[in-house]
Amino acid sequence: MTLRSRLTAAFLAIVLGPVLVGAVAVGFVVTKYAGERARDRLAVGSNAIVSTLSSMCQRARAAAQVVATSSNGGTRTGAVTQVVRQGLADAARLEGPTGKVRATAGRLSALPTAPWTDCTDAPRAGAPMPAGIIASIELRRPNGTLLGRARAGFTVNKALVERLSDESGLAVTVLGPARPAVTVLPTAEAAVVTRAAAVVRSPADMPEIAGYVLRVVPPVKGQPLRLALATPRPALQGLYATLVLAVFGAGVLAVVVAWRLARTTTLPLAEVARASQRVADGDLSARVPVRGRDEVGRLASSFNRMTREMQAYVIALTASRDQLRGNLALLGDTLSSTHNLDRILEVILETVMAATGAQAGTVLLVERGEKSWPGLLVGQAARGLGGRGIPEDGLRLHIGDGMLGGVAASGEPRRGRVGEKGVELAPGEPTCRTFIAVPFSGSGQAGYDEAGLPASGRLLGVLALYDRLGADDFDDSDLVTLRTFAGQAAIAVENVLLHREAERLSLTDPLTGLWNYRYLQVSMHREVERAIRFDRPLAVLALDLDRFKDVNDTHGHPAGDAVLSEVARRLREEVREVDLLFRQGGEEFVMLLPETDLAGAERAAERICHALRAVPVRLSADDPVFGELVASITASIGVAVYPEHGSTGPEVLEAADDAMYRAKAAGRDTWRMSEGPRTR
Ligand code: GH3
Ligand code: MG
Ligand code: MG
Repeated sequence: MTLRSRLTAAFLAIVLGPVLVGAVAVGFVVTKYAGERARDRLAVGSNAIVSTLSSMCQRARAAAQVVATSSNGGTRTGAVTQVVRQGLADAARLEGPTGKVRATAGRLSALPTAPWTDCTDAPRAGAPMPAGIIASIELRRPNGTLLGRARAGFTVNKALVERLSDESGLAVTVLGPARPAVTVLPTAEAAVVTRAAAVVRSPADMPEIAGYVLRVVPPVKGQPLRLALATPRPALQGLYATLVLAVFGAGVLAVVVAWRLARTTTLPLAEVARASQRVADGDLSARVPVRGRDEVGRLASSFNRMTREMQAYVIALTASRDQLRGNLALLGDTLSSTHNLDRILEVILETVMAATGAQAGTVLLVERGEKSWPGLLVGQAARGLGGRGIPEDGLRLHIGDGMLGGVAASGEPRRGRVGEKGVELAPGEPTCRTFIAVPFSGSGQAGYDEAGLPASGRLLGVLALYDRLGADDFDDSDLVTLRTFAGQAAIAVENVLLHREAERLSLTDPLTGLWNYRYLQVSMHREVERAIRFDRPLAVLALDLDRFKDVNDTHGHPAGDAVLSEVARRLREEVREVDLLFRQGGEEFVMLLPETDLAGAERAAERICHALRAVPVRLSADDPVFGELVASITASIGVAVYPEHGSTGPEVLEAADDAMYRAKAAGRDTWRMSEGPRTR
């Protein structure tokens, strides 16, 4: 059974119940009232009839009195005729003491002449019904001897009952002795009424028979007739039909109204149900029309709001998934295709911020050095850190300082809120409300890598995020995400450092650690370019050790290598940070001195010659390979300066080479300035 059918049934029950009860009550009351009205009419009418009949009885007595008085002891009969003629009675008679009729006038209609019961007497039980309304007066001598009787009366006929009926408004029937009874009713009804009257015991009983209410009035003193009075019961069929029709009409109307009402009530619910089905099938664009401000209307608008928000969530989720996919793709591409550490760290930071909804973040790498023990955290990539109190020269923190330093020192991730117990930011550390930070280390076994290679389980850096959007604290899933990305960062940093190392190895000379010939060519080109662009001088020194073959011959080739290594160390000490030092091959070295003119170059050449000459190279006696060695080392240096001695890298280098040979030729352990580009 549908909700609509149930509502319809309920409405019908509520409406039709009272209508039915009302109709029955109306029918009942009206019926009862109509019956009472009829009985009232009967009571009033019967009183009127009884008094009419009583007065007729009085008149009959008066007529009999006249006859008696005028009869002179029963001898004169004239009054008999006189009385009837004057209309004092329908009939009159004078009888002798034995009942012999002496004179008579008029006829008591079809009634038998006897018995002449006197209407003024109280009726006797079992006495026969009188033939009319008759009074009887006895004539006696003064001594009491009966002389005769004078009688007068009225006929009970159709005219009388019609008159009584007109006066009282009732249908009058005189029961007996005439057969059929004298009545105003049609024969069939008269028969029914007569039969019914036979069983009525008292005037108070007023039964309803054949559409009439019946009252039987018995003879009393002054009224000698037994009467059946009837009044039609008001016809209530019309009323009943109207009531049934009204109930039926109300029923039909109620069905229509209930159906429509149930429809309007259930329609929005059906719409919500249909829309819910669509949502369940995945269509979040489903909406229901809001048809009012009632409960169902509120349900509809809540439903719409719910689906709207779900749709927005799904869109946001899809967007964030797409963004994450994009970021992951970018991350993958970046990780696989570039060795640009800054770019990789930026991408990692960008991705992890998008994944967690952080507003700011930074990646710090550990920088180790003697001066910065136990190590410095240096900001390498940052986003959204503006206005968070970062110093101009960037984020630098000692390991152990503040929140980030604490994470680096303990090797444990941390998340929380600034202001919580145990959370203190170091000066220069980014200010924030909430934070999450994880350390990341190189792969492989823990321990310090003496070879200078990265990795090997030592701390590489810290990845930190600040202030998640929506003012929420970072949670465990953020920690998982951040750890994943920190792992990525570790791999990237490791790879880049390894790559840098590999690159460095391919460009440096393994014996001395100086740049090799390959890098000399690259650098020469780059430095001359720079000198040209900025119109600055550039000095080139070509250096060849003197009679080095002798060192080899005396001490052996490995010892010669050790000496070369020591020479390289001394040369490194003699030049500035910005100067570049190359081992061109064998015992030949080249120095590029940017921003150095002729005079500067001369001073440098002189200083280097002196540095080598002044202190002989001494290898320790403990050296298991060489034993003790002391070798006096000198060098011959050729100096050339851009732009004076050449306009390209190779030109200047050739000029320096030529100058070096001139120094050799001049006796070694000296330097010579180039005399200009080599002439071909
Ligand atoms: P000078 O330059 O003064 O003319 O004499 P020299 O003996 O140094 O002559 P030259 O520059 O031509 O000699 C190069 C010598 O340097 C040859 C070789 O014995 C030595 N030598 C070159 N490369 C190496 C090296 O890698 N290790 C060692 N131990 N010796 C080297
Ligand atoms: Mg040489
Ligand atoms: Mg030499």
